[in-house]
Amino acid sequence: MPKDAFGREIDYLRISVIDACNLRCVYCMPINAYFAPLRSLLTPAEIEQVVRVAVSLGFRKFRITGGEPTLRSDLLEIVSRMASVEGVGDLAMTTNAIALPKLAVKLKQAGLKRVNVHLDSLNPETVRQQMRWGNLEEIWEGILAAEEAGLVPIKLNSVVTAGFNENDVVELARLTLERDWHVRFIELMPLGTGECARLSIQRYVSNIETRRRIEQVFGPLIELEQTNPADESRNYKIPGAKGVIGFISPVSQPYCGNCNRMRLTADGKFHLCLLNDDELDVKAALRNGGGPEKIAEILLKAVAIKPTGHRLLQGRSTTERLMHQLGG
Ligand code: SAM
Ligand code: SF4
Repeated sequence: MPKDAFGREIDYLRISVIDACNLRCVYCMPINAYFAPLRSLLTPAEIEQVVRVAVSLGFRKFRITGGEPTLRSDLLEIVSRMASVEGVGDLAMTTNAIALPKLAVKLKQAGLKRVNVHLDSLNPETVRQQMRWGNLEEIWEGILAAEEAGLVPIKLNSVVTAGFNENDVVELARLTLERDWHVRFIELMPLGTGECARLSIQRYVSNIETRRRIEQVFGPLIELEQTNPADESRNYKIPGAKGVIGFISPVSQPYCGNCNRMRLTADGKFHLCLLNDDELDVKAALRNGGGPEKIAEILLKAVAIKPTGHRLLQGRSTTERLMHQLGG
């Protein structure tokens, strides 16, 4: 398994397959976002090449993300090519679920194991305002379709945003009483220098506050044992609940010391740390006949020079990339 300069074992590759999306969540993407031209996106065959090399180096965990990955018309080919690589242990996808009523069964058959679904509120009006163009009913249908297709455990991701959904966390947490889902609350992270970054700073809500809101209603949460140190989510249960409540707190409780991630952007760059600019191009090698050895050399270098951690508290983040280009 490849280790970085700080001894962290890096075995998890998150692949953004597209930077476009059918929504425009306020903290993620400006209304007039620029998208990379389709020809610049890695093809299914190129993604498979990278995954084969990653597995040969010891990567075991893979996630497809975006933008909104279901906007790729060749998504099923991407999934089946990735799933066909021996050694791909875990293959998951992050999505807003809108396309899942049509796609969930096909994705499962293609080899996808599970999905994380982004849903910020159970209040239709809040969803419309915060996930702009989002529709609660459509997302909910998508979640149920994923569950029925066996893309489980269902994990919901909610980004807590002051003035939008910070009070809706209670109803989201309540879902875990009757459903064996993981409902995870994510702290806002500013990426880039534009309106999304400004909003993410201004409307930041600490997970300390979110947990307090939930405990005010349900009483003290029971902390669950951390079985995987690289899991970014600190997990809890409401006493007697079927599901899990997770807190992902990159700002109030950074987990950089246990980071096991490498990212691949839709336009073919290894992005070394979500909240830093550092990237290494792999697309040029893929398109200029660089074989597995060349790809491996680039990936090993990407691991070797991965930054120690983020510098959000010093006011530093990415300068160019936004979340929809990196996939979370
Ligand atoms: N479209 C898919 C979705 O929304 O799940 C996949 C891509 S999206 C960029 C991945 C995750 O990033 C989402 O779950 C969303 O909650 C999270 N996200 C987007 N912008 C964020 C921000 N500024 N801070 C924290 N999380 C963010
Ligand atoms: Fe689209 Fe996901 Fe970003 Fe929302 S968070 S705009 S659904 S990519």
